[in-house]
Amino acid sequence: MTTLILLAAGLLQLCAGNQEPPPLPDRIAVVGAGIGGSAVTYFLQQQFGPQVQIDVYEADRVGGRLATLTVNNQQYESGSPSIHSLNLHMQDFVKLLGLKQRREVAGRSAIYNGDQLVLEETDWYLLNLFRLWWHYGISFLRLQMWVEEAMEKFMRIYKYQAHEYAFSSTEELLRSLGGEHFVNMTQKSVAESLLGIGVSQRFIDDVISAVVKANYGQSVAIPALVGAMSLAGAQGNMWAVEGGNKLVCSGLLKLSKANVLHAKVTAISPHTSEKNPLYEVHYDQEGARGSELYNLVIVAAPLHKSGYQISFSNFQPPIQAPVHSYHRVVTSIVHGYLNASYFGFPDPKLFPFTSVLSTDSPDSIFHSLENLCPINVSVGFRRKPPQEAAVWRVLSPRPLDRRELKTLFKSYYSVQVIEWQAFPSYGSSGSSRPLPPIILHDGVYYLSGVEWAATSVEMSSVAAKNVALLAFNRWFERTGKIDQQDLLHKLKTEL
Ligand SMILES: Cc1cc2nc3c(=O)[nH]c(=O)nc-3n(C[C@H](O)[C@H](O)[C@H](O)COP(=O)(O)OP(=O)(O)OC[C@H]3O[C@@H](n4cnc5c(N)ncnc54)[C@H](O)[C@@H]3O)c2cc1C
Repeated sequence: MTTLILLAAGLLQLCAGNQEPPPLPDRIAVVGAGIGGSAVTYFLQQQFGPQVQIDVYEADRVGGRLATLTVNNQQYESGSPSIHSLNLHMQDFVKLLGLKQRREVAGRSAIYNGDQLVLEETDWYLLNLFRLWWHYGISFLRLQMWVEEAMEKFMRIYKYQAHEYAFSSTEELLRSLGGEHFVNMTQKSVAESLLGIGVSQRFIDDVISAVVKANYGQSVAIPALVGAMSLAGAQGNMWAVEGGNKLVCSGLLKLSKANVLHAKVTAISPHTSEKNPLYEVHYDQEGARGSELYNLVIVAAPLHKSGYQISFSNFQPPIQAPVHSYHRVVTSIVHGYLNASYFGFPDPKLFPFTSVLSTDSPDSIFHSLENLCPINVSVGFRRKPPQEAAVWRVLSPRPLDRRELKTLFKSYYSVQVIEWQAFPSYGSSGSSRPLPPIILHDGVYYLSGVEWAATSVEMSSVAAKNVALLAFNRWFERTGKIDQQDLLHKLKTEL
């Protein structure tokens, strides 16, 4: 009897021993402190808890493509200016950090085809609808339904992530949201997809091409999913963070008590002397080289030819780092007097627009121009009318020369230029290009590859949460929370 009891106790101990979770990782490295890197740091800390040390390597400045610059003692967004009202992670971050959404200052847009304005927004919603119908029939309604359907499917991700489901590839993530159709939207062009649902070629040439150009500096050959996301933005309901969008990045890093190192990561390699796989992150800090060991490494920096190069050395089998090319977009922040007559308004007082988008014409010197509001908007704030000197943001394919600046502005006090490697060079879609992998090695994850499916501040935040959940679920072998099929149905029946 005693032997039996001892045996049972031994068995119980053995079972208890088997169930013991693996120890927490000691150290995690995050490469990049843009919104992707800052958000993944926060989500990793939420998942693994405060005991895990997270080091964030940033080669340039916290915020990445969320950046501001100063004109006349006031700051303006020089990178990503606006966030969609349905971007729930960004909304959560703003609440969590005690920040505020910046008041939207109404303005009107027009589209310019290099010769004349082809579409002019008015202050009256119904008149705008009537004009769209008059010029383009019901194309705009078809477009709206298409965008809404895509957004409705995209919104499912928040529910999946709230239940800690993660995906090991961007294709799996998209499949769970909208089936094979959603995956195909990364391969088919926006023009082809819209023509397929009966949107007219004229509407695509006049309106869609202008919106896509203003958002990505590229043509309507970009993938349909990228296009749908930017067209959702064009339907209004945008906001920004009072004090600058980049405050979200610094806020999340501070909240996570992350250790931010101002250093450029040059290489990542496996560390072979240990039993548990570890990774060595090699970095360059003000000319001095160093390296540190980590259990997990998250690359939240786009791997592209013009970026800081990271080599993945000594991996067996070798890691094929997905290095692509990014598309240059130049931002010029001009403080000056707009040349309204260039757009057919000899009297600047009569020029009613705060932004002008350009259609995709070969001679167009700019993608878009916009009369900017500063990052802090007081209650009595009003935009400067065009007869006064205002701060304008011009997006263009290359830096504007003096002649081009003189074409767009009658005179100016200052011009500040930032050249962005802004977005993936989508090139012509339809070539069945696979999306970059998320898992590069057991404990090495690539967050920024998501940009090839769609690129935005929220997309990086969604990818950040996915990578944090994926790393956590894989670490604790929670396989039931990875790449689950039919999640929509599963969650309905679970509730
Ligand atoms: C002009 C412009 C306008 C835009 N407009 C919008 C908009 O209106 N709405 C919207 O949602 N999105 C917009 N975007 C896109 C949006 O800014 C990006 O999708 C988003 O900011 C990407 O964030 P990220 O953290 O993934 O990458 P990034 O912001 O690029 O951050 C990556 C960081 O990694 C660092 N890094 C790179 N390599 C290394 C290395 N080897 N070692 C250490 N650090 C490294 C970089 O310095 C950088 O700080 C715009 C972008 C641009 C450029």
